[in-house]
Amino acid sequence: MNIVSTTPGGFHETDAVIIGAGPVGLFQVFELGLLEIKAHVIDSLNAVGGQCVELYPDKPIYDIPAIPSCTGQELTDGLLKQIEPFGATFHLGQEVTLVQKREDGRFDVETTLGTKFITKTIFIAAGVGSFQPRTMKVDGLDKFDGSQVFYRVKNPAQFDGKNLVICGGGDSALDWALNFVGKAESVVLLHRREDFRAAPASVAKMKQLCEDYEMQLIIGQVSGIEEKDGQLSELRVTGADGVTRRVPLDMLLVFYGLSPKLGPIAEWGLDIERKQLKVVNTEKFETNVPGIFAVGDINTYPGKKKLILSGFHEAALAAFGAAPYIFPDKKIHMQYTTTSPKLHKVLGVESPVFD
Ligand SMILES: Cc1cc2nc3c(=O)[nH]c(=O)nc-3n(C[C@H](O)[C@H](O)[C@H](O)COP(=O)(O)OP(=O)(O)OC[C@H]3O[C@@H](n4cnc5c(N)ncnc54)[C@H](O)[C@@H]3O)c2cc1C
Repeated sequence: MNIVSTTPGGFHETDAVIIGAGPVGLFQVFELGLLEIKAHVIDSLNAVGGQCVELYPDKPIYDIPAIPSCTGQELTDGLLKQIEPFGATFHLGQEVTLVQKREDGRFDVETTLGTKFITKTIFIAAGVGSFQPRTMKVDGLDKFDGSQVFYRVKNPAQFDGKNLVICGGGDSALDWALNFVGKAESVVLLHRREDFRAAPASVAKMKQLCEDYEMQLIIGQVSGIEEKDGQLSELRVTGADGVTRRVPLDMLLVFYGLSPKLGPIAEWGLDIERKQLKVVNTEKFETNVPGIFAVGDINTYPGKKKLILSGFHEAALAAFGAAPYIFPDKKIHMQYTTTSPKLHKVLGVESPVFD
């Protein structure tokens, strides 16, 4: 069973930490699991699936072997199902900020929520970096971050009874706008153009609510802000007609999508080439720091192709490469999942009878 940790700030001593819960990080759990290595998986996002879920959950992928077509979400769901026997623990909504070698050869790992790990091996499956919300660039706005300006909704109840302006034209902006109608004092959706990226059904619902005077849609862009008694009190919004209007508010929610940042990974003493981690060989996909492996889109080596199937292959070899750090006295043999009773045991399946 996959376990989602609900206690950030805890301490875990483990054999393997996987940084990144994209498709490759998830499959790394599987490959480690076959070698009886249990993993903790950390992702800065609140959901697993990496780019597949964040950028194209409902778009079909056609080049996963033996799956003629599946969406990004379906691939993720399938991987979660496949790794269930291995009982990985997921720590979501927290970015790994610190990776440091200890004197005993293991590593200290820490996240933004204060969760700490001591681990024998690390698998960096961080893709294009950790996704961070794109911020609104308006003079003086950043000092209201977290008090009146929000890029994520962690506690929806704090917006009840407030005058809200919600910016963006994608699913997050529309979903939250629809969610807050009836709960907030007022809801204004602000988008820079008439076209929306959000699901057509949500757009239709929003337009109906505007017609019913339950909420308001403004097409325009924030060009400035007004403060009163140290509080953000109004936005100046310039419309397509070039006219600037004042929009009073209590709170601003901005959903401009997410952009990936290599972020803290650059500070862990690993060899980096054009924002990717160099692996020292393609037998193990180990980085220049022994015990730290890099798999999936985050790594680079001659001939690298940023494809999911390449990441899966890398995860298999990295798991074998890591095993000697965890079981120094054990000889590791490759076995087939079809025929190996040992693998059937770890997978929790019955061994078939071959004639
Ligand atoms: C529109 C689009 C279509 C695509 N179509 C295909 C296709 O058809 N076939 C194909 O093979 N590939 C396709 N790809 C590429 C494919 O999605 C990537 O190759 C794949 O997602 C890489 O997986 P990954 O696990 O390495 O990284 P990612 O999917 O990027 O996941 C990395 C995860 O690591 C997390 N992370 C990063 N840094 C940290 C940190 N410090 N702490 C905590 N978490 C962190 C991120 O939040 C993210 O969730 C497509 C990509 C896009 C954008």
